[in-house]
Amino acid sequence: MRDYTKFYIDGAWVDPAQQKTLDVINPATEAVAGVISMGSAADVDKAVRAARKAFATFSQTSREERIDLLERIIAEYQKRFEDMAKAITEEMGAPAWLAQRAQAAMGIGHVQTAMAVLKDYKFEEDRGTTRIVKEPIGVCAFITPWNWPVNQIACKVGPALATGCTMVLKPSEIAPFSGYIWTEILHAAGVPAGVFNLVNGDGPTVGAALSSHPEVDMVSFTGSTRAGIEVAKNAAPTVKRVHQELGGKSPNIILDDADFQKAVGGGVASVMLNSGQSCNAPTRMLVPGKRMDEVIAIAKAAAEAHTVGDPNGNHKMGPVVSETQWNKIQGLIQKGIDEGATLVTGGPGRPEGLDKGYYVKPTVFANVTNDMTIAKEEIFGPVVSILGYDTVEEAVTVGNDTEYGLAAYVSGGDQGEVRKVASKLRAGQVNLNGASPDLMAPFGGYKMSGNGREWGDHAFGEFLETKAILGYSAKVAAE
Ligand code: NAD
Repeated sequence: MRDYTKFYIDGAWVDPAQQKTLDVINPATEAVAGVISMGSAADVDKAVRAARKAFATFSQTSREERIDLLERIIAEYQKRFEDMAKAITEEMGAPAWLAQRAQAAMGIGHVQTAMAVLKDYKFEEDRGTTRIVKEPIGVCAFITPWNWPVNQIACKVGPALATGCTMVLKPSEIAPFSGYIWTEILHAAGVPAGVFNLVNGDGPTVGAALSSHPEVDMVSFTGSTRAGIEVAKNAAPTVKRVHQELGGKSPNIILDDADFQKAVGGGVASVMLNSGQSCNAPTRMLVPGKRMDEVIAIAKAAAEAHTVGDPNGNHKMGPVVSETQWNKIQGLIQKGIDEGATLVTGGPGRPEGLDKGYYVKPTVFANVTNDMTIAKEEIFGPVVSILGYDTVEEAVTVGNDTEYGLAAYVSGGDQGEVRKVASKLRAGQVNLNGASPDLMAPFGGYKMSGNGREWGDHAFGEFLETKAILGYSAKVAAE
């Protein structure tokens, strides 16, 4: 049982302004795994003021000092790696292998990329007599979700520290353990007081207070489109920069000459990873309609190869994060059946023998049309929708026929054709033929999937202001 009731403000663990707590549930057991405090506007104000005070000094640190700081964070993270992975499994149910190899690994990966980028990043540029400088934007507010909890924290905090910003983090109240351990790591690494602050709590209270606080210069939000819109509205009166990483309903176009075993099987596996709780999951699989039967057979086998069970056991899939999500997913699976899609495997209810824990059957629907709810709404569960197309042009049109634009996937034998299709897709990241993730590649959405980009060097831009200094070079001016 974890007692995580303190907040971290101005370099110290402190009590919240008011006593209000929330139990954190382990989704594999439905038992209480720990308790956090639910913060208030007063806690946010205290944390933001600490960050503002620290900004005066931290913004003036040298590149070398910040590289040194990131190096110390990486070293401390390595010491706590196992703790981090365990906390993630406990708070959101990721199987131990996934928590280690992907979830916890990406947390450290983003700090490593921020450090690598910082080594050569160009903060100044001279054009004639004008110097253009990139300066840290100031105090940042970070609001993060539960699905890849430390990945989403690290991809904001890493580049924010690298650019000389100070910050306040509010992790998801559903999966707050990893954020607490993250904070302990930063403390152990000697992050100066006030540079990084942690306040736990819910969205409408702490999230809203952060979004609207006049001393916050930018807010970076990852979560649902619904909450992202709230954040932008709350941020508008103080004209702060708003960065949003929101939902997705990504198309996965499989061309006729693709390696179907690899593309269909890999597509299904990508959705099932993390129990379907990834914003960039390729949930709408578009396949040549004439080959639907073949696709169904491969997809069925791939889904059924996903064993579901105790995340500390040897299973491919753990539970989904909460009862709320379980109910939402069940409702959408039922909608798929009611609206006439073909249920290939899985379906409503719990997998056999799993009476406790929020487990969902790996589910595949075929003969889905793009007007069905399961083709339109983000399910955020292990559910694949397979749609048939007649022409590649139609596949592209249907692929783009969504309010989202986070990711897209294309597979095919002819690289020229694959690239041509990719160029027509309105999405922030297009993956060709099952390419591996790239932490240096910009990550973010078109349309209602968000604004701005995270990861690698592109992330730095979110945390920098641009200043043009005219008449900077007296020598050139005199000529
Ligand atoms: P959520 O929007 O409910 O919560 C995300 C965070 O926002 C939490 O910390 C929550 O407390 C806070 N929040 C909620 N309401 C708020 C408000 N009114 N003001 C300020 N903060 C508020 O989302 P979730 O259920 O935790 O996460 C799932 C969603 O996140 C999915 O839609 C998924 O696609 C999206 N997501 C997107 C990305 C991306 O990079 N695009 C990554 C991961 C998750």
